[in-house]
Amino acid sequence: MNNKIKINIVEMPQYIDSDSNETPDIFNPEVIDEVTTSISKGAQRSIKDILKFIVPNLVKRNILNPQQPIVNIRISGDGRNVGKKVKHDMITFAILDDIDNIHNPNYHHTVVLYPGSENYESLDMLMIPFRNELHELTEIGLIIGGINWIFNLYFSSDWKFLTICLGFNSANSLFFCPWCLISKKEMSNVNKEWSISKQMDCINIYNGHHSVPLFNMIPLDHWIPDELHIMLRITDRLWNLVLHEIQETGYFNDVAREIIVKEMNRIKVNFHFWQEKGCQTWSFTSLMGQDKLKVLQFFDLSTILPPTRARAIRMLWDGFYDLYMDIRNPATNPKTFKRNAKMWLKIFLTPSTGVPNSDDFVQGLYRPNDITPYIHVLVFHIHEFMEKHKKWGLKSFSCAAVENKNHQQVSQFFRKTLRDEGNGANRKSAIVQILEFENRKLHYNINDSQVTPKMIKLQV
Ligand SMILES: [Zn+2]
Repeated sequence: MNNKIKINIVEMPQYIDSDSNETPDIFNPEVIDEVTTSISKGAQRSIKDILKFIVPNLVKRNILNPQQPIVNIRISGDGRNVGKKVKHDMITFAILDDIDNIHNPNYHHTVVLYPGSENYESLDMLMIPFRNELHELTEIGLIIGGINWIFNLYFSSDWKFLTICLGFNSANSLFFCPWCLISKKEMSNVNKEWSISKQMDCINIYNGHHSVPLFNMIPLDHWIPDELHIMLRITDRLWNLVLHEIQETGYFNDVAREIIVKEMNRIKVNFHFWQEKGCQTWSFTSLMGQDKLKVLQFFDLSTILPPTRARAIRMLWDGFYDLYMDIRNPATNPKTFKRNAKMWLKIFLTPSTGVPNSDDFVQGLYRPNDITPYIHVLVFHIHEFMEKHKKWGLKSFSCAAVENKNHQQVSQFFRKTLRDEGNGANRKSAIVQILEFENRKLHYNINDSQVTPKMIKLQV
């Protein structure tokens, strides 16, 4: 199998982002230690090798039709924070046409893998062969089983990974939107319409595009933001705005913190506050995906806010939850979504009315400065992506499967106990083991064979 799908090792500059202080996704000190000592190498597999292996099987399963030899490929990127300083990055691809398996991590094939830092330079270096292959696939196609297949490419990831691959500004820049020409200063004008207007062919003329996109063979409207991160990051914003409000009003004391923790326990979310040594501000548990959804749906805001205020913010949260459900529902009408999203933004920006400190004063919700790039995308671009890609549905571009895959693989393969089983000098690097494991899994998936005892052991 490793002859059919070769694994290439690339020497990497040893680079740790010492300023980075990211929220860890992986905490196990043994794994962090192993990943940190492995940052000198990256690994690659050839997408053409993998396609040659999987396409005949997709034809056999009637997923692909040789009479219409088009393959739709979704490329994704993900970086896991292993401790606070190091990332484990991977680029994968999956066959969109195989829609029933699009949420299964085993059907996202790794092409590039490396421990280190999530930055343009590392990805640029590691992706040279992959990019050449993608150019070839889109320009001339690939002959498999005597048929010349042609390829449509899509890319999806979280915001940070997407902007790095696009050679574009970070989210906190003046020109922050990968798809339109809006600047931060124009956030306050909610009546202005924004739509996907940049073109990949001339991407360098727009503000904020500093480097050649790593996937410049993919049209910009095929670069799709991950729906999971839309939910995660906007929920973060809504939650932080509430915490900020409690802090502002001076009620963020032991009693308030205890009430919040108790309410989190009630909705079965593990949550606590703590203070880092020598630090005045309070840190709190960073919530995982499902827990964020629970908070968004069920957290009783009246435990920490006055009743009218709690009702107003609850309405906003419910509105966002409904929008998120609509993104995931393939039957959602894009025009209705656009209208609802716009309406939601208007509620988000509800201004205060009346004279402050008088009886008729009604406090509004939030200011244009509180709008995040993800909120801009939710309101102005999601309906466009929905319309353009309704054949697949936006849920088909969710990165949850790729995140899970990365998380599982790092946790399994960077454990010293497992790795020490190899003897001394012959000890293989974990990234090679990961790709060999994927090769084996592909072989067994396709041949429908029994899983070997060794694989079962690695899956535990
Ligand atoms: Zn935009």
